[in-house]
Amino acid sequence: MAKVKTSYFCQNCGYQSPKWLGRCSSCGEWNTMVEEIIQKAEPEKGRWRPASAGPNLAARPKAITEIDYSEQPRVLTPDAELNRVLGGGIVPGSLVLIGGEPGIGKSTLMLQIALNLPGIRVLYVSGEESDQQIKMRAERLGTNSANCFILTETSTQNIFKQIENFEPDLLVIDSIQTLQSNLVESGAGSVSQVRECTAELMKFAKESGTPVFMIGHITKDGNLAGPKVLEHMVDTVLQFEGDRHLAYRILRTTKNRFGSTSELGIYEMQGSGLRQVSNPSEILISQREDALSGITIGTMLEGNRPLLIEIQSLVSIATYGTPQRSSTGFDAKRLNMLLAVLEKRGGFRLGAQDVFLNIAGGLKVEDPAIDLAVCASLVSSYEDIAIPASVCFAAEVGLGGEVRAVNRIENRIAEAEKLGFKEIWVSRYNAKGLNLDQYKIRVRTASKLDEVFISLLR
Ligand SMILES: [Zn+2]
Repeated sequence: MAKVKTSYFCQNCGYQSPKWLGRCSSCGEWNTMVEEIIQKAEPEKGRWRPASAGPNLAARPKAITEIDYSEQPRVLTPDAELNRVLGGGIVPGSLVLIGGEPGIGKSTLMLQIALNLPGIRVLYVSGEESDQQIKMRAERLGTNSANCFILTETSTQNIFKQIENFEPDLLVIDSIQTLQSNLVESGAGSVSQVRECTAELMKFAKESGTPVFMIGHITKDGNLAGPKVLEHMVDTVLQFEGDRHLAYRILRTTKNRFGSTSELGIYEMQGSGLRQVSNPSEILISQREDALSGITIGTMLEGNRPLLIEIQSLVSIATYGTPQRSSTGFDAKRLNMLLAVLEKRGGFRLGAQDVFLNIAGGLKVEDPAIDLAVCASLVSSYEDIAIPASVCFAAEVGLGGEVRAVNRIENRIAEAEKLGFKEIWVSRYNAKGLNLDQYKIRVRTASKLDEVFISLLR
């Protein structure tokens, strides 16, 4: 029996050091180094169980012209939102991490997908719940499948033993933090365990061509629990977000070796599981009869998809000391910049006002194309003049109060038209290349903020 070997791991970034450090020399965090036992037992031989590395005879340099390449067919799931965030379906042999806060619905999402894949043998490995609990969840979802198999197990060696006999077409791991490899002695959920188990799953996925989905819990500050290194190891990282008290959930791609990283899927959590929301603008814009001051509609792009979103603001005289600035779903610095532009270029006395800004639906928007909608919302609330509900905006605002062009304006206009808006405000520079007569929606153009307000706030 060899001497017990330990090493120190940064719990934030996964950095390994032979001795304890007060401050991680990789990510700079303090007090994150934790001692973990890494003594490796002699590996059992098996198809995917790592054996000691032998001489690798297979690899030799190849001319790039010699390599034949044909795109492997992806597996299309019945879930169009999932297909979209994956970049067009499940890639064979890919390792996908689904991160999210506890209780947000990751297990529900994965079980629902596992139950709805006709003709595909799915092995759902759970270290979190008993098989009865999973069955209960499946009953609630109201779907059943003879192709979905449940295994409650946490040892990777035992899981791979089952896989060798069972040969699934798709493997789901719920969750990576519960898995334990006997090659590493530290407890489940520790950095070295998570890393070793992920490496074993990666090897299995690549060598067998079986896609693997693994669930990972994230901590309160939004990081994947334990190591950032996990994100570097997998092919695709999907974040499942949303407020657990609200019905809407967002599935967002943050890393994808097989597609774009700006895609977004939207679901509604119902008693019977997650419902795909195929026309998100309808839920992001509140149904209202009367126009209210402070409410405007802007356009944003998420990946290839234009969305129309509602911006709400409340501007009122600050009664207690320093005026408050509060923004939800929109960058607070950008809000301050736009307020300064309105004050300086538009002459609106916003300095002594409390300002609250909210993006409806719990979305976080980074697209600068909603600037004009934000400005219009602020001014509408300040002046207490409602902007008609049939008007929307798609332009960036510069420091000089100029209305700037945004990308993919045609898509934004087309989406607004599709949703029945009567009027959209865009930058004059954006309109130059467009044939405005082709639209049923009235495309209004401006190069300065004043032109917009003079027209809307008479
Ligand atoms: Zn670190």
